[in-house]
Amino acid sequence: MSKSKNTLSTCYTSMECNSCKFIKKRKFSNGDVVFSTSEDCSECDGKMLITKIFGVIMD
Ligand SMILES: [Zn+2]
Repeated sequence: MSKSKNTLSTCYTSMECNSCKFIKKRKFSNGDVVFSTSEDCSECDGKMLITKIFGVIMD
């Protein structure tokens, strides 16, 4: 039997502050939706807007 390759895909969420344009990436978590506001900005009092959700395949 041949050894099957085990590939792992991890989803990441990219978000941008609607106030200071600070960009942050973190691991995707349930409930993340593109163009929804996610959390408070760590750099100012603005809100982070989710701009992209993408998967990274690691092998
Ligand atoms: Zn900000």
